[in-house]
Amino acid sequence: MNEKIWLSSPHMGEQEFKYVQEAFETNWIAPLGPHVDGFERDLAAYLGEGVHVAALSSGTAALHLALIILGVQAGDEVICQSMTFSASANPIVYQGATPVFVDSEEQTWNMSPEHLEAAIQDRIAKGKKPKAIILVHLYGMPAQMDRIMAVADKYEIPVIEDAAEALGSSYKGQKLGTFGALSILSFNGNKIITTSGGGALVSKNEEWIKKSRFLATQARDAAPHYQHSHIGYNYRMSNVCAGIGRGQMEVLPLRVEKRRSNYEFYKETFAENEAILFAEEPTGEYYSNRWLSTILVNEQEGITRETIRLHLEKDNIETRPLWKPMHLQPVFADAPFYGDGTSERLFELGLCLPSGSNLTQEDLDRVVKQIKALYQEAKV
Ligand SMILES: *Cc1c(COP(=O)(O)O)cnc(C)c1O
Repeated sequence: MNEKIWLSSPHMGEQEFKYVQEAFETNWIAPLGPHVDGFERDLAAYLGEGVHVAALSSGTAALHLALIILGVQAGDEVICQSMTFSASANPIVYQGATPVFVDSEEQTWNMSPEHLEAAIQDRIAKGKKPKAIILVHLYGMPAQMDRIMAVADKYEIPVIEDAAEALGSSYKGQKLGTFGALSILSFNGNKIITTSGGGALVSKNEEWIKKSRFLATQARDAAPHYQHSHIGYNYRMSNVCAGIGRGQMEVLPLRVEKRRSNYEFYKETFAENEAILFAEEPTGEYYSNRWLSTILVNEQEGITRETIRLHLEKDNIETRPLWKPMHLQPVFADAPFYGDGTSERLFELGLCLPSGSNLTQEDLDRVVKQIKALYQEAKV
């Protein structure tokens, strides 16, 4: 069996271990410590725009705290992009609120501004104004930010920006993760940088970030004993994990560069193949970190995205269909949905190719050789 080629695996630099060792040597083995503070400063400096950052145990925890800070409660409705990972939507249900799903547009595959506005108008007509909008930048591609923010501002609904896949991407030169009233990042093992598991909440509102740190450490009031006036959570990032994060921040620009070059390689290789389409940046204003290289496969010679996926699997190469939209998930079958089938079509045609920043040229060659062979065989 050939060596496994992963979709997106962790890629450590030179300094991560040094930071972790420092945590051990100083015995800061806890969900607080100098690396947690340092990682928050590193992230805030990288993102710019005067943001504040709270390092947390996961991106999902960050989304949950964002909803709590915006006052989302049982019975409320929250708009969420349908095409995404389930973690974008689950925290809505943690709060006892109802997700209202909105379809994607063709250009960026992210939330459609038209369907967003239609959803807001219809929910208001039905008697409930949505409490928040959860917007996602899929695979690192920026959403149509100007148009989305214009709709959100018009109806005065705060945006929670799920930038879990988009650290290192930007829109009109502004880093993703700085657009939302609150934004979230993820450092799960498969993301562009990782802390093994972790996340962050980002906002220009310093009070909110302070509040999120308070809620994330069991909501302890200032007292010598344990005193509580709020329900708290155990959502803080460990100082050991934050040490990994500090090392990863030093190589983030290199990781973006390599992931973008993976994408360029696939795009150039299949430029002549009319069945395989790439998701291009719509204009120069959109800059994607290309967390994952994705393709749409139009059926040709009987080859579909599923044929490609199974063929690569036989050679121990991992690929995955695009995110299955939330409105098609059994667990969300009863949730309202506004759209025209775009995300459903993308899901049917789309495939994520191996995209790690640690892929070698031999790895990439192996992937494209297998795909080319499939089309060659189909022709003869
Ligand atoms: C990974 C991811 C999350 C969740 O992050 P975790 O750190 O794994 O909890 C949320 N939203 C999207 C779009 C993601 O890809």
